[in-house]
Amino acid sequence: ATILSTTTTTATTTQQHQQLNRPPITTRFPPEPNGYLHLGHAKAVSFNFAVARAYHGRCHMRLDDTNPSKEDEEYVKSILEDVRWIQRDMEPFDENDDEMAESGDNDMKEEEMGPWYGPVRKTSDYFHRIYNAAIYLIQSGEAYIDELSMEEMREYRGTLTEPGKESPYRNRPIEENLQLFQQMKEGVHPDGKYVLRAKIDMSSPNLNLRDPVLYRIKHESHQATGDEWCIYPMYDFSHPIADAVEGITHSLCTLEFEDHRPLYDWVAERMVKGGLVDCTPRQIEFSRLNLKYTVLSKRKLIKLVEESHVTGWDDPRMPTISGIRRRGVPPLAIRLFCERMGISKSDSNIDFGILEDCAREVLDENCVRAFAILDPLKVTITNWDGSSIEEFEVPRHPKRDDLGDRTVPFGKSVYIERSDFFDLDGPEGEANNNKVPAGFKRLLAGDKVRLKYAYVIRCDEVVRDASTNEPMELLCTVFPETRAGATPEGEARVKGIIQWVEATSAAKCQVMQYDRLFTVEEPGKESGDFTTDINKDSLKVMTNVVVEPSVAFDALKVISQIRNNSSSSDKIYHSDLAYQFERSGYYALDSTSTVSNLVFNRVVTLKDAWNV
Ligand code: ATP
Ligand code: MG
Ligand code: MG
Repeated sequence: ATILSTTTTTATTTQQHQQLNRPPITTRFPPEPNGYLHLGHAKAVSFNFAVARAYHGRCHMRLDDTNPSKEDEEYVKSILEDVRWIQRDMEPFDENDDEMAESGDNDMKEEEMGPWYGPVRKTSDYFHRIYNAAIYLIQSGEAYIDELSMEEMREYRGTLTEPGKESPYRNRPIEENLQLFQQMKEGVHPDGKYVLRAKIDMSSPNLNLRDPVLYRIKHESHQATGDEWCIYPMYDFSHPIADAVEGITHSLCTLEFEDHRPLYDWVAERMVKGGLVDCTPRQIEFSRLNLKYTVLSKRKLIKLVEESHVTGWDDPRMPTISGIRRRGVPPLAIRLFCERMGISKSDSNIDFGILEDCAREVLDENCVRAFAILDPLKVTITNWDGSSIEEFEVPRHPKRDDLGDRTVPFGKSVYIERSDFFDLDGPEGEANNNKVPAGFKRLLAGDKVRLKYAYVIRCDEVVRDASTNEPMELLCTVFPETRAGATPEGEARVKGIIQWVEATSAAKCQVMQYDRLFTVEEPGKESGDFTTDINKDSLKVMTNVVVEPSVAFDALKVISQIRNNSSSSDKIYHSDLAYQFERSGYYALDSTSTVSNLVFNRVVTLKDAWNV
């Protein structure tokens, strides 16, 4: 909130801006395409888009692609997909924008379209302008070609307590600088032979101002510009230029760039002075998102994938956007989470539970309900008429009529959750001193329970496995007069209500239950190597799950929709199909699901399981 108020003291609406002849508030999200986006990036996405929206401004999408060695087209694709998904269902900035129509920016290819303003931009689009900016600095005597080795440069730079030493090449004549820079560009020299440095102040208390490197030689192909360049600009040089070129008014970035701000301003000022740009952007810092029990750094996430600690970037245990999405956390929950975290300049280590609370809140409101039995125990209704099936029309959501009804069949054979029957006379009872656990209100031999929406049943007999004595099947009686919630006069109310699934129409599926990926709050802090803190039991696979037929029906519909949908701007995901499996938790369809093998991921548990 403090940043919002400090950065926007001059902010007004678009109209007022036009009257005042001021540019609209313009922000940008500038990831480097060297990895998949994670929840930390989600914070930056949310912040940049929210500021632009709040002040009727614009937010640009820019790929900061200045380092060819670590970048890849695969990352570009995933980044755009993730940003579209985080901002899903939000108003675009483009509507009725005359300026956009004039600039021709709205003749965009589909793969460039998204919730951002205008096309996807790339720092590499500005390589020529950045190069010209370098020439300008050389000509004005504020940049020079250095040929100290890396070690020498480090030595000359000095320390926090000692001033640096000027390079012997610092006063190379302008003509020679221009010539050498030209040669660097033409590929005459090998990597590392020369660099272009700004001529600022080798005794500045800020190390970033001790003649920072602006350009280096790198004989490498770039994923966007191919072999056109063999010199590439440094972040500190290219970023303010890209911001200025795009008319960014507020360049929001994380706190580690605070010390770089004087350099950012130094570059921006010179660009304006040289007439190379006509807007001075401002850099404003905010604190990074840190989450307990996980790691938010591309470098570490790459290691998890490369060393196969997880199944991939989109492993539902990963804090990547693709992992979170596959797990079934809705984008609205991520935006809610970012809003609740707020923006400040103080570092914090946030509990993953806060994201789970946000997911629960959003899912509770929007998810349809269904019955699923994770660990089935068969129940046979002995007084039921053969193979006849009765259908119950029940609400999909207890509070939202707009979500409609579903049909739940009932018959002679149903499954209930094994844990909803307490086996007093078997091994379970023995292990509990032949006592029913305190507070247990569900089914016992000789006792009754209500099957939600259907009937009250009584367990008359337990059929056991001959060798283990474990219950295999319950033989039960149904009470027809208790149909659909009715309690006949004079009868005592049955306290326990449980979920169930009719056996002949049940669909089999797999359920994946996830736990934290790490066993400690700050992975690697004590051990030095974060991979040693990986939780070995972070995945539990349940293979005997049964679900009511409406779930299988919905799932097959989604699977076929996904097969037929190729749009990148309106992409449908498996996880868009999510349920509250009653009394169990929230579950979303996994992307590996096929027509013959449905898989669900547990997104989060329920806070409240009917309390029985
Ligand atoms: P990493 O450290 O994971 O490699 P990065 O900062 O190098 O991340 P970029 O691609 O440069 O990744 O990030 C794009 C934007 O996202 C930047 O503005 C950066 O400040 C922001 N960002 C990255 N990580 C976080 C985080 N943990 N919290 C908030 N913002 C973040
Ligand atoms: Mg970066
Ligand atoms: Mg990085």
